[in-house]
Amino acid sequence: MESRSLQELVINLKGIGEKTSALFEKCGIKTCNDLCRYYPRAYDTYDKVVRACDVKESMVNAVKLTIIGNVTKRRVRNLSIIAFEAADETGRIKMTYFNAPYLASSIKSGTTHIFRGIIRKKGSFFTMDQPKMYKVDEYAALVGKMQPIYPLVKGLKNSQVTKAMSECFKNIGVLEDYLPESIKEKHGFMSYHEAVLNIHFPKNNESLENARRRLAYDEFFLFVLRLRLLKKNQEEFENSYRMIEVSETKRLLEQLPYKLTNAQQKAYEDIQNDLSGDTVMNRLIQGDVGSGKTILAFLALLTAAGNGYQGALMAPTEVLAMQHYESFKELIEKYHITTLKPVLLTGALSAKDKKEAQSLIKSGEVNCIIGTNALIQAKVDYKNLALVVTDEQHRFGVRQRETFKGKGLNTHVLAMSATPIPRTLAIILYGDLSISVINEMPVGRLPIKNCVVGPDYRPTAYKFIKNQVEAGRQAYVICPMIEEGENVEAENVTDYTEKLREALPPNIRVQMLNGKMKPKEKDEIMDAFLRRDIDVLVSTTVIEVGINVPNATVIMIENANRFGLSQLHQLRGRVGRGKEQSYCIFINTSETDEAKKRLDIMNRSNDGFEIAEEDLKQRGPGDLFGIRQSGDLNFRLGDIYHDSDLVKESAIDADMILSQDSELKSPQYSVLRDLLSTKSANLVDFATL
Ligand code: ADP
Ligand code: MG
Repeated sequence: MESRSLQELVINLKGIGEKTSALFEKCGIKTCNDLCRYYPRAYDTYDKVVRACDVKESMVNAVKLTIIGNVTKRRVRNLSIIAFEAADETGRIKMTYFNAPYLASSIKSGTTHIFRGIIRKKGSFFTMDQPKMYKVDEYAALVGKMQPIYPLVKGLKNSQVTKAMSECFKNIGVLEDYLPESIKEKHGFMSYHEAVLNIHFPKNNESLENARRRLAYDEFFLFVLRLRLLKKNQEEFENSYRMIEVSETKRLLEQLPYKLTNAQQKAYEDIQNDLSGDTVMNRLIQGDVGSGKTILAFLALLTAAGNGYQGALMAPTEVLAMQHYESFKELIEKYHITTLKPVLLTGALSAKDKKEAQSLIKSGEVNCIIGTNALIQAKVDYKNLALVVTDEQHRFGVRQRETFKGKGLNTHVLAMSATPIPRTLAIILYGDLSISVINEMPVGRLPIKNCVVGPDYRPTAYKFIKNQVEAGRQAYVICPMIEEGENVEAENVTDYTEKLREALPPNIRVQMLNGKMKPKEKDEIMDAFLRRDIDVLVSTTVIEVGINVPNATVIMIENANRFGLSQLHQLRGRVGRGKEQSYCIFINTSETDEAKKRLDIMNRSNDGFEIAEEDLKQRGPGDLFGIRQSGDLNFRLGDIYHDSDLVKESAIDADMILSQDSELKSPQYSVLRDLLSTKSANLVDFATL
């Protein structure tokens, strides 16, 4: 009964027509079930009404005022404007409405309303543009309530989502709870239904936080349970591809211009032991940006090839896959490696090239397959795949890794990640993997020098970039956007590239790169940057992961305040990869203390772990909506750092349940079991898996 109403299409809800339903679909919402799980990104609280003399500038205020004097109506081109003044005994405010003819009848001199909107000061006057108007008792009923603010697409209004959500809750009955009573009791959790209801329509701050914690716990709990069940299935698979250390890896290690760091050496030995051991390898290499993970992947793939097997390396972006392919070819050439035969397979290849790559893979003529998630498509057949490597594992999730692994039979798995997670959490969240940590940087690296500055520092920064380029180095400039956006005061690569070309001498080659470009174009630009045919690359965050151009020594991040700290850390990791001193310039365009404090962390530390920890200390529970960590084990409501206690609790509970009932056969687990056994489990999001 319940599940049927959850599967009801939103178009059948009262008040939703074709048009709205199409907009909902753009947000990934088709059914009531999808809708209930479309969580707000923030909340708006209706504050108490203040007097005109107590309003706060630049903030949302609700003021009870009486309209005084004349109400003027004008037209300016196709804009109709209504303007008037409203006052109480302590002061008055100028009001302006645009294109709001429907308000004309309620705006009458002498009538009293609650006006709610942002207060601005123009000259000696306070003003409000487009304030929301309420009847006095209507507003009184709202005070203290929290209004959900949803992520929207163009054309979709917040009020439409809110209304649909209310309708939805009227129809769906009580949502079934899959957590066993004993666990709910242990943690004092509210029911699943209450939690979902309170995430959308919180009674107050406290019930919101309780709801969030319950749902965050669910995410972790289901994640851990799935991991445990997965691990049980793969546990102790016999190693059917026993490998020995091959002469080419030994020779390469002797001939490389550097010695592996102790941590790299240890990880290398872990890998070699796994590959030659009794059971199949399932290993995670965890190491901060720039710690030198790629060479370990290369050595592992070379070992597989030397033993007569195929290995494959999957990267999260075209740009990175291409770069790995190029750098592998370079190593092969430079060190006269004969056993490794690489091929590139990405979605960006022409149909003909793809076919050709696929046939080489199938016949076994190539043994080192590098690419994007094109590698795991059904039509790609491998001859004897014995090792799969995922670079930047946190960008993929367990499911994709499993599919990748499934391209062979009991394949060895090597996952690499730069996500800084404390060991206690890593053991839980990567529960199916053994972990090698690379906790030191190659010798001779100079720590990156940082500065956080305001926009007026730009000319100085350009001069600095110019000097670095003239000294033979290269630079990145990162902008948050591709093109000029509506109402958004953030730099975009398109205009910025032009500005920068003007600000720098004409012999400095400035080029832009963004994620919307055709893959081929992106490749060409990255290639040119690598060959030093471009001096300054103005880019969006497409270069965030993995890219390695050791000659680049400056990265300037525009509107740095708009990025999450872990993302800033990844971006900064694009420099400081060679012997030269590198620099990171964070441009802070926000004037808030909060932005300054957050960026100060970046200024003080180059250590991913420390940054994650500091970031956590500064964020309150209220900040958990909105700012999401980019990529890293992204749960929808749970935050692995902030909710680390829940992560640990959920693991304890999952283990306890499984130790008593390893197949969840008891009736108290029936809903849970059903949920875990449906692949497209729709109650809870398994995106992270
Ligand atoms: P990441 O861990 O971020 O993937 P990379 O593997 O791309 O880092 O390595 C960054 C740079 O460091 C590369 O240019 C690589 O050649 C170099 N590198 C790796 N290991 C060492 C080492 N032990 N000593 C010096 N340089 C190294
Ligand atoms: Mg890397």
